[in-house]
Amino acid sequence: MDNHFPFFEYQDGELYAENIPVRELAKQYGTPFYIYAASSIRRQFTTFQEALNKVCAKPPLIAYACKANDRLGILKLMNNLGAGVDVVSVGEMKRALAANIPASKIIFSGVGKTERELEEAIEAGIRQINIESEPELKNLAIAAEKLQKDISVSIRFNPDVEAGTHDKISTGRSEDKFGVTAERIIHLYKHAAETKYLNPHGISMHIGSQVADPRYFIPAFERINDLVHQLRAEGLSVTELDLGGGLGITYRDEPEADIEAYAKLIKEMIEPLGCQLSFEPGRYLVGNAGILVTKVIYVKETDVKTHVICDAAMNDLIRPALYEAYHTIHPVIQNGADIRTVDIVGPICESGDTHAKDRPLPLPEEGDYLAIHSAGAYGATMSSYYNARVPACEVLVDGSDHTLINRQESIEQQIAREKTLLS
Ligand SMILES: *Cc1c(COP(=O)(O)O)cnc(C)c1O
Repeated sequence: MDNHFPFFEYQDGELYAENIPVRELAKQYGTPFYIYAASSIRRQFTTFQEALNKVCAKPPLIAYACKANDRLGILKLMNNLGAGVDVVSVGEMKRALAANIPASKIIFSGVGKTERELEEAIEAGIRQINIESEPELKNLAIAAEKLQKDISVSIRFNPDVEAGTHDKISTGRSEDKFGVTAERIIHLYKHAAETKYLNPHGISMHIGSQVADPRYFIPAFERINDLVHQLRAEGLSVTELDLGGGLGITYRDEPEADIEAYAKLIKEMIEPLGCQLSFEPGRYLVGNAGILVTKVIYVKETDVKTHVICDAAMNDLIRPALYEAYHTIHPVIQNGADIRTVDIVGPICESGDTHAKDRPLPLPEEGDYLAIHSAGAYGATMSSYYNARVPACEVLVDGSDHTLINRQESIEQQIAREKTLLS
């Protein structure tokens, strides 16, 4: 079998997470649960860092977009690698600080930062706030004035480009809610430069997620060049460029984004601007470092379908329901059974609770384990308690070591909390 997930490989017909049989972890932690492979995260980070260090005059900041996976265990690993973090809420900022990520490496993005969030970010002394609209800039000026504290600002550019990806994860088209168009940015930047406590130092952008081909960045990079030249012609200083994330990974058999090709574009199109660069990869760093392990509860045969009903559901991993995402699913133990075309589903009372439709799979039996791949990004962080189901716990594997890094509140704990509120 062709394996796109090198830290999850079979040995003698049994799936391993790095050096540990997945079956042993399943027995210890119970299903459903996530496994993250630390070595995979380190490899992705190093690949990205080395490719960009080679082409950038100043080493860029790699600010991991932690909405992909914000667990402290993962953030600490990122901190040890020297990563910064891109956050999209004050909650994420607090998580990053709790993992000892220096404030000087935290970037705050997002279209709807509240007054309170802006104040907390200024107070924490983070590296930069990416401003996405005129009213947000106004609120930032008020917050900084109130605290009498300087804050560095980048304005998020909406370059009006297609990213060749799913509609729900495209963020750089003019109709998307993100960023500011070129005409407005110059006015906003100038205004920020004239505002006390605000230090506009650059431009940020993020055109979308799961961008398969780095060539999709070319039009955006061209437009950023024009914009920087226009800003400089107005006498404004532009020293920082934050180029966002969005690099794609393999879910099925599509190739992972070519980092060397991406770095080459950076060298040719961005480096001549002479700015300090930062990047915000999320999925690329952690997506294929994770699997969701589930147990088969029933195999239900009907006249038209075979439904493999599992104990993981859309409350654990919502990507198939939300984005029609494809996730590779493999048996944890290769049982030699005939391949059958099946629907792999969860127990939730929605037809959308389907991990895979019409998927060829060696027909499993009740009690067998399945591994849902590419679940390291936008998996656990998007989980919920829907149907009063406790989301899967999370285990970090590193070589032959394993650690439980997250277990969610039990239903008993939730009931007790709500009872206190009602009493
Ligand atoms: C989500 C997001 C990212 C990361 O996207 P990936 O596709 O996971 O790399 C980076 N920057 C911003 C502003 C984001 O919202």
